[in-house]
Amino acid sequence: TQPDAAEGARAYSLDRGSVFHSWSAQRSLSPLVIAGGEGSTVWDYDGNRYLDMSSQLVYTNLGHQHPAVIEAIKRQADRLVTVAPAHANLARGEAAERILARAGSIFSKVFFTNGGADANENAIRLARLSTGRDKVLSTYRSYHGNTGSAIAATGDWRRVPNEYARSHVHFFGPFLYRSEFWSDSVEQECERALHHLERVIQAEGPASIAAILLETVPGTAGVIVPPPGYLPGVRALADKYGIVLILDEVMAGFGRTGECFAFQGFDVVPDLITFAKGVNSGYVPAGGVVLSEAIASAFDDRVFPGGLTYSGHPLAMAAIVATIDAMEHEGVVEHARMLGDEFIGPGLAALQEQHRLIGEVRGLGVFWALDLVVDRETREPVSPTIVGRLKDELMQRGVLPFTADNRIHVVPPCTMSPADVARCLAMLDEAFTAVEAE
Ligand code: PLP
Repeated sequence: TQPDAAEGARAYSLDRGSVFHSWSAQRSLSPLVIAGGEGSTVWDYDGNRYLDMSSQLVYTNLGHQHPAVIEAIKRQADRLVTVAPAHANLARGEAAERILARAGSIFSKVFFTNGGADANENAIRLARLSTGRDKVLSTYRSYHGNTGSAIAATGDWRRVPNEYARSHVHFFGPFLYRSEFWSDSVEQECERALHHLERVIQAEGPASIAAILLETVPGTAGVIVPPPGYLPGVRALADKYGIVLILDEVMAGFGRTGECFAFQGFDVVPDLITFAKGVNSGYVPAGGVVLSEAIASAFDDRVFPGGLTYSGHPLAMAAIVATIDAMEHEGVVEHARMLGDEFIGPGLAALQEQHRLIGEVRGLGVFWALDLVVDRETREPVSPTIVGRLKDELMQRGVLPFTADNRIHVVPPCTMSPADVARCLAMLDEAFTAVEAE
């Protein structure tokens, strides 16, 4: 795509005139107009190129414009561009088969949705129907999507103006750096967080609780990697009290943590998995729920009262099949793990030594957060102004970051080259130097 300044100006003015944006007051927005992209790079209409350290909204796990996925979408478009969910379709069957082959032997079916929120919505519905119970427990530090139950299950501020669905209860998960449990070791944090969860279950009444819904690794909340033993402990509590365990892998799944499914690195198996984003790098909107045989078979002779017009849309399904195949053929998941272990993790740790604003570095694979603080002793978060300044400095240096609250998230495509990771790290170093000097 050749940048064309006039087209860029038109794209910007149409956006500002006619497009209503997510999660924003509209007046002061000034969105970057992206003209094209390839691999880990995007460019605007003025010829500026940016390394995409955000994977957009943490979903282009294969990078931009992967040729095999684009080709598969085109082939499917030529063959059959749409089909209703009640009909069988080869691309949908192949997508389900590929996902199940990677999820593990207890899983037997996939229900496809349009994205992550409706995946969680339907997982909650499945848990409620299969247990006959109502309540859903989830953590304060979480995001599960912006539909009825998904936003009510969300822990962060986005829940509060949207709390229309009922029977959602929140608790605190483990987070040693900002512990709610006065812990001073990982082991203590894990043990106390599990104790707290069991007390919440008991106080709410186990017989009223359908599901515990957790992001395997809470993402937007700050890439909060659970301590070893926490998720197996939650699994044990779910089993003890007959509660369905739903792991939300919308952001963490499909390579981001250096595993196909993030839970595979944490010695736990849920009853339901929700996914979206990385399953097809977001090339065509898609998400879904992977069902255990035990839950799926409960609907063998009973109607599942749920459905979506575009469930299993052929273009999205073709993109899933091609994405999973490309991940396999190109060793993408292993590459993501290697980038985390050998480049991003050590590189960010070295930056932390140099820059006092970096309070903690957390993550794995291509899923990292820099928790920025005014003071390393008190761990007081930096203001939005500091994060905004860092973002500007990074953009000026050709790096597109993902920021949330007091954090910069380092969440590039799983396919980024070590040389491009090194460039991101060098630009982060320069940006911190510039802002700390002020
Ligand atoms: N769950 C998690 C963990 C997410 O990060 C997101 C989106 O960022 C969602 C669910 C919602 O997905 P969607 O925006 O596709 O509905």
